Amino acid sequence: MEKKGNFLRQNSAQERMLDEFSYANRLPLWGFLVLIGLFLTGAILIQYTARSNGIIMISNQPVPLKTLTGAFSAICNVCVLSMVVLYKKPGFIFSVVILLAQYPSLIKQFLNQNYTSISGIFTNTFIIIASCIVYSFVHRAQLYQMRMRDQAVTDRLTGIANRFATNELMKYLIQRREKFAFVVIKFHNFNNINNTLGQQAGDEALKQIADRMTKIMESGSTGTKDFVATRKGNDFLLVIRDFTSEESIRNTIDVYLEAMSRKIIVKDVDFVLSSCVGYSVYPEDADDEQTIFDYAYVAMYNAKKANVSGTICRFSKDLLDSDNSVDIERTIRHALDNDGVFYNLQPQFDTNHKLRGFEALARIRDEQNNVISPVVFIPVAEKTGLVDKIDQKVLFDASKFIGAIVKKTHSDVILSVNASVRHLMRTGFVDEIKAALKESGLPANQLEIEITESILIESVDKAIECIKQISDLGVRIAVDDFGTGYSSLSYLNSFPADLIKVDRSFIITMNSSETSKQFVAAIIALGHVMNYKVIAEGVENQEQLDTLNQIGCDLIQGFVWGRPMDPEEAAKLIGK
Ligand code: C2E
Ligand code: MG
Ligand code: MG
Repeated sequence: MEKKGNFLRQNSAQERMLDEFSYANRLPLWGFLVLIGLFLTGAILIQYTARSNGIIMISNQPVPLKTLTGAFSAICNVCVLSMVVLYKKPGFIFSVVILLAQYPSLIKQFLNQNYTSISGIFTNTFIIIASCIVYSFVHRAQLYQMRMRDQAVTDRLTGIANRFATNELMKYLIQRREKFAFVVIKFHNFNNINNTLGQQAGDEALKQIADRMTKIMESGSTGTKDFVATRKGNDFLLVIRDFTSEESIRNTIDVYLEAMSRKIIVKDVDFVLSSCVGYSVYPEDADDEQTIFDYAYVAMYNAKKANVSGTICRFSKDLLDSDNSVDIERTIRHALDNDGVFYNLQPQFDTNHKLRGFEALARIRDEQNNVISPVVFIPVAEKTGLVDKIDQKVLFDASKFIGAIVKKTHSDVILSVNASVRHLMRTGFVDEIKAALKESGLPANQLEIEITESILIESVDKAIECIKQISDLGVRIAVDDFGTGYSSLSYLNSFPADLIKVDRSFIITMNSSETSKQFVAAIIALGHVMNYKVIAEGVENQEQLDTLNQIGCDLIQGFVWGRPMDPEEAAKLIGK
């Protein structure tokens, strides 16, 4: 625990990020100054009214000014307690100092036989005691909150930051538009330790690696500002800031790799770990933390393919289409054979925030139980034909889950599932949908199939034929990622779609580029002319929501109102 605390304090990037979780630190300084001002004004008015023999008229009644002393005293007390509760230590210290500072004057008045000061002495004494009691409770609660906070961002085994902390840091940097590189380090042969010496030895090795990385980070020897973290399994993560060039990123990575390539001694046995590294760079590669994360993994899998320890690969868009995907393919096969394919549900809402339904999004688990994003595995699955099995699994599992809820609650939520066009055009897809509907009991009009526009265009006629068959079953059709393909009005016109999904890339730029905003407005108008509903994907903030409302968008999907979640959580949302 000592070590963790130390680590957290030493890393200013993480410290700042952690501070943002803390409610106390978010209160503005001006609030503190207002409370001080109120307190001082109250204190001056107490002195003035206590000594005054003046009279004021309230509702035509003469009232001695002295009677107001109690009211000003109450204001001062409220200020003191507010400072202690809201501003904790600084509030407490200021309150006690200022209350103690009043004693000499109060005692002097008492000695001069001005006995009205007795009530002041009593009030001050009691309010100091009350402040101490309140502060001790607030302080204990704050310590508890900090402990919880540290646990939430720390990996239990190694004591270094975890994936959640990394995500939060990346979000923080993106908010400030600060460039950074995100690096994933994976070991090829880590399982050798687990397999030969057992899990405990593996844990010991991970601790040693974490120690080495922490030492480098704290020494500042890389010349860049680094943040070290780990992820469940045995992946290590790095966020590199303040680099001057691609070369300086590489140099930093090299320093860490060198430390990791030195032998590790566990239970008197020497091991040399071989590693591969992938990284992506904000803002060049993507502008959200999730995509940056996924892209670094794409690069890492590419580096792993070389099977040479120390291979470093930088993400590039070509990698998404590259054939270097043997590892990912193996991971997908492993997941399919070991019940490692599952799904999350992301809610969709109308503009009044009423739940419309959920999109099922596939995930897989690799051998180390790490969750792999579809951005990484769907392109490979499509190429290898494995996507059919993934789509099928998600379709059957998600329909069964939502079908059971619908049966019980008569809810009208819609379940959207993604279908790869390869899968869609395979004979038997319509039968699959029929079987899923039958098995799950989900009404056909509560199932929606999402098809990506860009792939659609490649084989329009066949695709339209298949889509018509699905539509004839009463199942809804959505056109995914709309705007990213080469939209052809003529085919859209002959297309039995119900919903257009405006791609996230337009929503991101909508508020900074008038052209993007006009483009989204045009898609919405076009959709409405063709009798489609329009949903905006990837809506992340209130500003985007306001613009979408203003230009008449029908439905919303995005982190602003709901991230992809476990089915159980989604069930609770339906229950609400
Ligand atoms: P998609 O169908 O366009 O799904 C939406 C993606 O955007 C999801 O990413 C979702 O998590 C993400 N997203 C939603 N709202 C936000 C937001 O506010 N901000 C950000 N940054 N992202 C948001 P995910 O789950 O990584 O899926 C990526 C793509 O993988 C999907 O894009 C879809 O094309 C494909 N995919 C996912 N599941 C399946 C599946 O079961 N079958 C097939 N064939 N493809 C799938
Ligand atoms: Mg989709
Ligand atoms: Mg989409």
